[in-house]
Amino acid sequence: MINRRRFVQYASLGLGSLNFQSFRGKAEAHKPLVLSTWDAGIEANKAAWQILGSGGYALDAVEAGVRVTEASQNCCVGLGANPDRDGIVTLDACIMDEAGNCGSVAFLERIKHPISVARRVMEKTPHVMLVGEGAQQFAVAEGFPLEKPDLSPDAKRAYENWLKKSEYKPAINRENQGHGPFAPNMLDNGEWNHDTIGMIAIDSKGRLSGSCTTSGMGFKMRGRIGDSPIIGAGLFVDQDAGAAVATGQGEDIIRICGAHTIVEFMRQGMHPEQACKKAMERLLKVKGIEKAKAIQAGFIAINNKGEYGGYALQKGFSFAVCHAADKNFLVNAKPLI
Ligand code: ASP
Repeated sequence: MINRRRFVQYASLGLGSLNFQSFRGKAEAHKPLVLSTWDAGIEANKAAWQILGSGGYALDAVEAGVRVTEASQNCCVGLGANPDRDGIVTLDACIMDEAGNCGSVAFLERIKHPISVARRVMEKTPHVMLVGEGAQQFAVAEGFPLEKPDLSPDAKRAYENWLKKSEYKPAINRENQGHGPFAPNMLDNGEWNHDTIGMIAIDSKGRLSGSCTTSGMGFKMRGRIGDSPIIGAGLFVDQDAGAAVATGQGEDIIRICGAHTIVEFMRQGMHPEQACKKAMERLLKVKGIEKAKAIQAGFIAINNKGEYGGYALQKGFSFAVCHAADKNFLVNAKPLI
């Protein structure tokens, strides 16, 4: 899989093989349809489409789709991702269906597919959210293997690099600041310090679902949880309006209940792109322009008619759109700043 960093490198060399298309979401509506964050979404969408394209259930599609990214060692999602500042990979994920059922896990260690554990929380417990040791115990009781606590070679290298200065800079990368050792907020070795895959889908019966999974911020404080496993912040689905998912600086997305805010704007009749933009404006207002320049955030949304859109705080956020086996492409989200 080409991860986001490598893709940007390929693109800057003019070697990009992924298919970017100009944004057409405003005029379009599709059922089925799947959207996911960043360029890793292309591969994830393919797995989701296997289910959606044959009349399957949106919830199954959003789980299967992000499992591809979780299993990838090349992406900053899943057990191959960057650890916290104590050197331990901790994962967060959540899932939500068309009926308002949802499940979430956070601060989960040594489990390869947090998204599937989140689905079990939703389907097999009376709760919405399990964290830490309890989430891991539940996963093991449900038959999920406990993986070895080893860092992937990429994560080990990045962590060792970070340890040289051990500087705590909990700010999400700004993709518009260039990509290399001297870009602000970039890790010294030019690696990204975060990544997430969020996926939302509408199936052929019109049912909406969403999923979100992440290792959170690279080299974060132990126990830190962002927006991604928080229902209403990282993900929200309401069949009467639409579905939305977020990526970027989790603390700021939580402050505005990002995904829920977008869904409420769609309920008021806004197009998904406009709803994402309005929510981003709120984030900008709460954060303040100067501080906002130091972070990144991206939102994507689908309404219950199958219209879609996305918006970024800053340049550099792309999302993957798929509505047919041969229509799986990246869109550069418009930036607010
Ligand atoms: N939202 C994630 C977090 O704050 C990070 C990301 O989207 O990359 O944990």
